[in-house]
Amino acid sequence: MLIQLQPYDEHNQTLEANVHPPDWVNPDPDGRYNMVVIGAGTAGLVSAIGAAGLGAKVALIERELMGGDCLNVGCVPSKGVISAARIAAAVRDAGEFGVRVPDGWSVDFGAAMERMRRLRAGISHHDSAARFRDLGMDVFIGDGKFTGGDIIEVAGKQLQFKRAVIATGGRAAELPIPGLKDVDYLTNESIFSLTELPERLVIIGGGPIGTEMAQTFARFGSHVTQIEKSANILFREETDAALIVQQAMEKDGVHFALNAVTKRVEQRGNEKVVVIEQNGEQREIVGDQLLIGIGRSPNVEGMGLENVGVKFDLREGVEVNDRLQTTNASIFAAGDVCSKYKFTHAADFMARIVIQNALFKGRAKVSALTIPWTTYTSPELAHVGLNPADTKAQGIEIDTYTQPLDGVDRAILESDDEGFVRVHTKKGTDTIVGATIVASNAGDMISEITLAMVINSRIPTWKKKLRLARGVGLATIGSTIHPYPTQAEAIRKLGDQYSRTRLTPFVKNLFKRWLAWTR
Ligand SMILES: Cc1cc2nc3c(=O)[nH]c(=O)nc-3n(C[C@H](O)[C@H](O)[C@H](O)COP(=O)(O)OP(=O)(O)OC[C@H]3O[C@@H](n4cnc5c(N)ncnc54)[C@H](O)[C@@H]3O)c2cc1C
Repeated sequence: MLIQLQPYDEHNQTLEANVHPPDWVNPDPDGRYNMVVIGAGTAGLVSAIGAAGLGAKVALIERELMGGDCLNVGCVPSKGVISAARIAAAVRDAGEFGVRVPDGWSVDFGAAMERMRRLRAGISHHDSAARFRDLGMDVFIGDGKFTGGDIIEVAGKQLQFKRAVIATGGRAAELPIPGLKDVDYLTNESIFSLTELPERLVIIGGGPIGTEMAQTFARFGSHVTQIEKSANILFREETDAALIVQQAMEKDGVHFALNAVTKRVEQRGNEKVVVIEQNGEQREIVGDQLLIGIGRSPNVEGMGLENVGVKFDLREGVEVNDRLQTTNASIFAAGDVCSKYKFTHAADFMARIVIQNALFKGRAKVSALTIPWTTYTSPELAHVGLNPADTKAQGIEIDTYTQPLDGVDRAILESDDEGFVRVHTKKGTDTIVGATIVASNAGDMISEITLAMVINSRIPTWKKKLRLARGVGLATIGSTIHPYPTQAEAIRKLGDQYSRTRLTPFVKNLFKRWLAWTR
């Protein structure tokens, strides 16, 4: 097994018993399967359980830990430790709310990590080998490999398939930084095994993984330096949104080395030294631990893809068409292994497309998905649809509506008012094309806007043109009563902003005359 479950305590033993049972006995293959799924992360589990639920004969193959990255070394442990860090920050800031913590406070990092391991183990039965077997699937533990034709080999057994699904996800990329391979560094596969808080943590990468961990470890008390080659972190997001998160992290004590190129890395005794170049000058950043938080590589090697005519690229992953079919018509792919949207919910919905298209000759398209995402910092940064750079590139003209949170009572009362809700609409209309939210619960708030976009996307253009159907746009959101006081009121206020743009001088004049006449 590549991922080490450390420390090997009762929680990790429970996790292992669920997701990689040491005493697991692979079943005997049961003739030809409707579907054989390689990889039991989100994409594989959803493909398998959905297909089996509809009556298909399904085999599911996993070589490491069922549940994949999300359960074991991704979303679940990261959100577990983020929640502990949020409590630490709340206690730290309690005085601002008039709450005194009498004898000072401290973080017990070991206890916070143990809590995460306990909760992760508790969740893990959902993804367990036994559960999937009991739901009627043949679960095989081992390396899945296409040997040719319609055969996949696993642990010496040959499985025959009508349809196969490649759901093998990805892993932390091996970055070509000079010296890195001689340094004992952390990735997402090892950071959640730590039991001692590093005094100094250096993080290379300003993307979501590096950023979430930078804030978390700073809040726990580490001296964190985050290195990023762009001018700000979270560079794929709208700049002012990313800057709000960056400034919040500075208040948490994170040090940023921006516009910085990592030249090399060295191990000096127990210390890790990162040499960066910034503004033409080189300097060293020293840490007790080094986290590589950038770069994902798809798991495409050693699977015999060349034996069955499935085209792939070592960086981009498995090549698929809009229906998630690979270059072999009987083999589909879903999740991180074939998508630029590397999120659990994206893997889940891609798997649903695969079930329809692989088993029922469906025509579902991945391009029809509206995929939001969230970075779980404080404040959270959530996004859906297009941002201004995308709309510019696609020649779409937009109007932009922004509601700062310092105009929203609930945000003010919670001292959470550094953020905003922003919606981009097609110029002159209330049709939403994209949105960004920076708020403490932005990830929850974005779904209202995503729903509006999904409803719109399902109305045929001809119906819209003939005004036979109205979608849900900013005007509808503006006329939807939101409870007071909530931060989601910010979204409703954008509807008001839009409605005010409808109040042209001509309409205003009409109203004025009517009111004067009826006075
Ligand atoms: C630190 C971190 C935090 C994250 N946080 C979030 C978050 O908050 N929200 C979110 O939406 N996403 C998050 N993600 C991303 C999310 O984890 C992935 O998008 C998701 O796990 C993808 O699922 P998947 O099924 O495509 O692949 P994976 O989860 O990677 O599963 C693939 C499985 O295939 C197995 N496998 C590979 N090759 C073979 C083979 N030849 N034979 C048998 N088995 C094989 C692997 O062992 C693995 O278990 C996070 C990721 C990381 C690293």
